[in-house]
Amino acid sequence: MTNRITLLPDHVANQIAAGEVIQRPASVVKELLENAVDAGSNKIQLIIKDAGKTLVQVIDNGLGMNSSDLHLAFERHATSKINIAEDLFTLKTKGFRGEALASIAAIAHVETHTRQENEEISHCLKIEGSKVIEQTLSTQPIGTSIGVKSLFYNIPARRNFLKSDNVELRHVIDEFQRIALAHPEIKFLFFNNGTEIFDLPEVDFRKRIIDIFGNKLETFLIPVEEKTSLARLTGFVLKPSHARKTRGQQFFFVNNRFIRSHFLNHAVNAAFEGLLSPGYNPGYFLYLELEPKTIDINIHPTKTEVKFEDEQSLYAILRSAIKHSLGIFQVIPTLDFEQNQTMDVPYAFKNKIPATPPIEVDSSFNPFNDSVLRRKPKTEEWEGLYSKIQSIQTDETTSSNTLLEVPQTIRVFQLFSKYIVCPLQTSMLLIDQNRAHQRVLYERFLRAITSKKGVSQQLLFPLIIELNLKQKQQFKGSEEILDALGFDMKLNKNTIEVIGAPEQCPPIKIESVIETLLSETDQDFDDQHFSFADQVAKSMAKSLAINSGEILKLDEQQRLLDDFFGCKETTVSPFNKQIFITLDKGEIDQKLS
Ligand code: ADP
Ligand code: MG
Repeated sequence: MTNRITLLPDHVANQIAAGEVIQRPASVVKELLENAVDAGSNKIQLIIKDAGKTLVQVIDNGLGMNSSDLHLAFERHATSKINIAEDLFTLKTKGFRGEALASIAAIAHVETHTRQENEEISHCLKIEGSKVIEQTLSTQPIGTSIGVKSLFYNIPARRNFLKSDNVELRHVIDEFQRIALAHPEIKFLFFNNGTEIFDLPEVDFRKRIIDIFGNKLETFLIPVEEKTSLARLTGFVLKPSHARKTRGQQFFFVNNRFIRSHFLNHAVNAAFEGLLSPGYNPGYFLYLELEPKTIDINIHPTKTEVKFEDEQSLYAILRSAIKHSLGIFQVIPTLDFEQNQTMDVPYAFKNKIPATPPIEVDSSFNPFNDSVLRRKPKTEEWEGLYSKIQSIQTDETTSSNTLLEVPQTIRVFQLFSKYIVCPLQTSMLLIDQNRAHQRVLYERFLRAITSKKGVSQQLLFPLIIELNLKQKQQFKGSEEILDALGFDMKLNKNTIEVIGAPEQCPPIKIESVIETLLSETDQDFDDQHFSFADQVAKSMAKSLAINSGEILKLDEQQRLLDDFFGCKETTVSPFNKQIFITLDKGEIDQKLS
């Protein structure tokens, strides 16, 4: 009998791994810049040609490598950053998986020059498709230069998927900015096709933000500072008057690494509660420093998502520190923060009730009022819900030794695999899980479409979906919106090839989601772009929402409620169906009397 299982050859394994880490030129930029930062450089140059499709080169003045390290650097799982698993808990570097260079070298032509401080000569290595082509010696400056040419030359499907130079350049700029914002102590230069895009001198955080986003932003920055045993928070939020409909200026850094977190974003929104008109998002540049062992950055191959050990306390710290800063800003609107950076208002101040100052946006907002947990629901029915929940929690918890109020988990349970029951002090909520989740997803998708910032999850193998004529027509008109949602797709003759999908869309559902989307939505229905976006968001929400009959684990129930409580609208589903009912204690008492 012949064996059917064989180990994949290294170059094939590397190509597959590359698919996860390297999706476009911007991914190469991210990996090379991170390595340059990890190498302790204080000057880093990024040079690209044709938005990185032809060349991505990063030159640093860091540690460099000796000849054997240089070879090892391109092996998979080769890293100088961790030795044993425990090291993962004390990480200070960006890299640690030891797969970026191996992945890049599997799918491109890579030329590296590197020299260490104590060496006279530099080592040069050329690799194409994981094969060493040439190794020589020369006399380059101290540091490392890695040039990546002809990305995806051996994976035509990927190469064909690359978008226009403008789109790819935007992605590269995004990655560059995230790293430059995280490291103002490093000088950065960035050229595309010989044109200088950024020349950023070594400065502090504030100046780096201004150097990147322009002097105009300066007057909008409000400093945020907080230090607790759990975390140190610094950075800036933008004045409410600078809030935008898009989410362009929202940056979280955890231990100098850019991350995305719905949860932390929610905390910032909660701090801005009442200050922004509906549909507007606060801008922020926030830097959190935590003990590396309290976070897990290993959950995502590109390491942009982080799991925190104590999310709820972080939530409270963020919300309260930002509220505090907004409070100072409201009380003393003409304060020049640059000259008063050391000014420190003690926390005790926050419990004093100042006269409510006049506010441009919403005069009912009182930044020192902490009685509202998270975002306050808009509709009358919800009024007081949070304060009720909170009053139960305050009754039940004894942790009054901390200054900060920590949102507790709401106790819930599932009924008939269909409803989530949420007991309050004098009433009970019965929430339809399907409709509540539709609402959550609908709002997320709409936001992704308007901000063009849908987060995409790459597929290991492209998915081919056949289309009929109408669906094909429909696809052509929807490409921009699908792209904004996070779909990465290409139209062939009678099929589409999918290589990435929004993070909320599990791979096995992609086909049905797209088919429903292309059959149900109709661009001719209304000419206005927005109404079409609305249809798309609704269709996706319907396809992907948790159904009736699905049993949910406790943490899934809690997460659903948490997300639902963050929605702008909470009474009806996107299809105008009532989402929950309340049962008052009085009604129950009466029934049993
Ligand atoms: P990781 O960053 O996860 O360790 P990489 O594949 O990105 O994995 O890099 C592998 C190794 O190559 C790094 O651990 C580091 O020792 C070395 N290296 C990569 N880039 C540089 C650089 N610019 N300067 C010095 N050493 C580098
Ligand atoms: Mg790396």
